Amino acid sequence: MDISPDHPRYKSLVIREKMSKLSDQGIVARTGLIAHGRGEAFDYLIGEKTTPAAKHAEEAIAAYLLEAQNPVITINGNAAALCAEELLKLASEVGAKVEVNIFHWSSERLEKLVSYLETFGNFEILGRNQNAVLENIASDRARCCREGIYSADVVLIPLEDGDRAKALKIAGKTVLAIDLNPLSRTSVESDATAVDEITRAVPNIRQAVKDLKDDQKRRREIISAFDNRSNLNESVNCIKDNLTQQQIF
Ligand code: ATP
Ligand code: MG
Repeated sequence: MDISPDHPRYKSLVIREKMSKLSDQGIVARTGLIAHGRGEAFDYLIGEKTTPAAKHAEEAIAAYLLEAQNPVITINGNAAALCAEELLKLASEVGAKVEVNIFHWSSERLEKLVSYLETFGNFEILGRNQNAVLENIASDRARCCREGIYSADVVLIPLEDGDRAKALKIAGKTVLAIDLNPLSRTSVESDATAVDEITRAVPNIRQAVKDLKDDQKRRREIISAFDNRSNLNESVNCIKDNLTQQQIF
């Protein structure tokens, strides 16, 4: 489909076309397209820009990733479709492992996703050999890699489901999320949530990593001062303010 760059929703339309194509290829699950729509709706409400609260959470996420002993970034179909290259770069900049983890599990889909990520360069992608099980999740979604998610101390979970976020918390991990919905269970369960669109959030986190890379003192200050619940309240307030400013009737 030809989309004119003059269209006011050009970026959104281009992304939708890409998601649709990757859904045909089996990388994005069909229900992943619906989850994307929920994200788009929240992006409207938040003003389609990185808010100061999100920027602050992105700094905290960078600090947590740099302070981690064994960080892992998990990638599902939507995260891969929207942001694969940036997520892989972030992983190599913070020394994190990358593990594919999908909600709609099948060995074929897992293989497709791992192979898709491998096309972005010389990155090691975990996920083919799922030899461990995360407690407190029913079904195949609990599968993970012993050397990846299972033994991680800090896990970044972009666009995750609340059940998995909670199970990772119960397993004692520091959980970092990217989720446009400040009310989702994932957002609330996590230690730091960037309420921001993933394609804006990840470059911001990478920039914060650059800024904090040689400043451990600052990283520790950011982590100890960060309060996810109050940061989420700021995002909710930002939505409220947007809605009151944009009274149409
Ligand atoms: P939870 O299970 O955490 O309560 P949920 O059931 O509402 O959340 P899921 O479908 O499990 O939502 O997860 C998808 C989440 O990802 C949604 O909260 C949605 O807002 C968010 N999301 C979708 N697309 C994007 C995007 N491009 N950037 C950031 N967040 C997104
Ligand atoms: Mg959910």
